[in-house]
Amino acid sequence: MSFAVTIDGPAAAGKSTTARGVASRLGFLYVDTGALYRAIALKVQQGGIPPDDRDAVERLARETQVALSGAPDHPRVWLDGAEVSDEIRTPAVSELSSRLAAQPAVRRRLIEIQRALRDRGPLVAEGRDLGTVVFPDAEIKVYLDADLDTRARRRFRERERLGLPMTLDEVRDELERRDARDRGRSESPLAVPEGARVLDTSGMTVADQIEAVLAVVASHPAFPAGPGCPGGRADDPVRERSEGGAGD
Ligand code: C5P
Repeated sequence: MSFAVTIDGPAAAGKSTTARGVASRLGFLYVDTGALYRAIALKVQQGGIPPDDRDAVERLARETQVALSGAPDHPRVWLDGAEVSDEIRTPAVSELSSRLAAQPAVRRRLIEIQRALRDRGPLVAEGRDLGTVVFPDAEIKVYLDADLDTRARRRFRERERLGLPMTLDEVRDELERRDARDRGRSESPLAVPEGARVLDTSGMTVADQIEAVLAVVASHPAFPAGPGCPGGRADDPVRERSEGGAGD
């Protein structure tokens, strides 16, 4: 089983930037699990499927192919063979992904995909339930948090860069709503994993966050440092089907 670093936490706590930086420095795969939920949400949205129609959503999840590049310097996402890296970042997809993420059938399917990625080599995986449910035996577990205003300002700037204008208040409301849903659901709720190192990133720079996580990783006795690091760099695309099997 490959060395795994999990980074969980609420929306806009700095998980993606930190996970990418850490994966890049270590030459590990970068696994953005939120992108999987977002890809399913995009397909539900495009297909006009009512999100509460659990049977239809379950069928769709089973039949959908989602692929991640796994490359921390250039993370990309494909849905049924078409790249959707930008399309999955809209506010509507954010909202829908958090609603669908509460459905056990969706989680079960995506968890299978996430676990299969660990066979490909050492990884840094970020999301909501990586240390608690997906990889409970991960060597390193980190939980990133930040106060709501800091997180809202970060997400607001990101959205501006993507040309998706929203007011700061709207962004704050969206984060609060999604966090409440992620924490309150019965299936794999967002929680601090047992044994996780908790970091409050409110006053931290991205560089600080990356260094802090790297220090935790380096202190682990099983850390596969050096050129012999199993798995090597994550340059090759990692592609997974939701029906199992490889590639798309
Ligand atoms: O991390 P990101 O904001 O892209 O995730 C989108 C949504 O997917 C989250 O609001 C959450 O509901 C869901 N999610 C999840 N478990 C994960 C990753 C994401 O429930 N491991």
